[in-house]
Amino acid sequence: MNMITNHLPTAELQALDSAHHMHPFTAGAELARKGARIITRAKGVTLTDSDGNQILDAMAGLWCVNIGYGWDSIAEVAARQMRELPYYNTFFQTSHVPVIALSQKLAELAPGDLNHVFYASGGSDANDTNVRLVRHYWAAKGKPTKKTIISRMNAYHGSTMAGASLGGMTGMHAQGGLPIPDIVHIGQPDWYSEGGEMSPEEFGLMRARELEAKIAELGEDNVAAFIAEPIQGAGGVIIPPESYWPEIQKICDAHEILLIADEVICGFGRTGKMFGSLTYDIRPHIMTVAKGLSSGYAPIGASIVCDEVANTVGEAGDFNHGYTYSGHPVSCAVALENLRILEEKKMVENVASVTGPYLKERWEQLADHPLVGEAKIKGFMASLAMTPNKAARAPFEAPKGTVGLIARGHCFGGNLIMRHVGDRMIIAPPLILSRSDVDVLIERAVKALDLTLAEIK
Ligand code: PLP
Repeated sequence: MNMITNHLPTAELQALDSAHHMHPFTAGAELARKGARIITRAKGVTLTDSDGNQILDAMAGLWCVNIGYGWDSIAEVAARQMRELPYYNTFFQTSHVPVIALSQKLAELAPGDLNHVFYASGGSDANDTNVRLVRHYWAAKGKPTKKTIISRMNAYHGSTMAGASLGGMTGMHAQGGLPIPDIVHIGQPDWYSEGGEMSPEEFGLMRARELEAKIAELGEDNVAAFIAEPIQGAGGVIIPPESYWPEIQKICDAHEILLIADEVICGFGRTGKMFGSLTYDIRPHIMTVAKGLSSGYAPIGASIVCDEVANTVGEAGDFNHGYTYSGHPVSCAVALENLRILEEKKMVENVASVTGPYLKERWEQLADHPLVGEAKIKGFMASLAMTPNKAARAPFEAPKGTVGLIARGHCFGGNLIMRHVGDRMIIAPPLILSRSDVDVLIERAVKALDLTLAEIK
């Protein structure tokens, strides 16, 4: 067999890729016809592909490369850790220095009394942990009927059986017999698509009160928790109306249920504060984190848990749950170095008050484009809702996502990674984005929108 290296021609790499590699969220047959775009290296906010194109990555990989690409010190820390202790587990009363240090750091960063960390390899399996943890907590409190978890339609909480069940993606539920029992969904706070004649504030309250109605319908004795992303990411960057989270918090406070904030995307600076929960004044009992925890340099996720839940579960005997890579030493060391860089380089401040306000100004101007019905942004998460009729906030005719796909193609062609969710275009760039990067991003986005408009006319 030939050595497979960066130096093989793109077509050869594409053929080998489609012959042997099954891609996530991808139609294999279509990919075999088109060929994957092969990324060979990356630095800062820029990717290089196998044809030498320089691409602005406005999605930070998969919303994860918060500190940007190419930090040597992370490679050095990982190599040092691999030499010293490449692996040891955290089961059966053993521990190691990187996991102790990272847990202490996360307890320091997380709000309130979220002082205890249970590790996973990513966000999906951290959410699986949450399902088992909250049910086990209530059983330990003598309330075993409190099992149902309320989530939201169009939420994304991962791809495992529990993660995808917690998520509210109909396309995912349609494959593999989901959702699993005792997971139910209420409406999402997407005013643009679903708010009709209501004001955003009225609609936000209405959608929050669906939680109260669902708790009443199920009976409080049967509800374990409510889970939500502070801002829905994969659902299309759905920034909730300002009325939404205060009402949700009020309802959670008034009922005996746990609140889980899925911070996998919002966490570690993306909303302009360290966590989305701080941006929206949410007081969760558990936060799910992943992605920005290591900026994608190594796989790691975690549930950060409050004193009451962790102590109750701790008193109840063994929690019969864990992953081989829970608290992997290399991932923990990488995450610690990532957080050190994030803080030292003041990247959260860059989102809040340096580049962030400029990106907001430029992004919101995109609402003037004839194809754009709404341009929304919070921190470094933003969306464009494309429409054939701005005044009516009308969707394009079915099949949904056709225009989004065309626009994504023109972004790719113009060396900009912007993702589409249906006919919404979204970005979540690395937190190191500069003003000049913003100018390039907006220039390429406008060009892609112009080409899309010309193509669909
Ligand atoms: N939760 C949220 C909010 C996410 O956006 C994601 C991934 O995009 C996940 C969970 C799943 O994380 P992972 O892909 O690391 O399993």
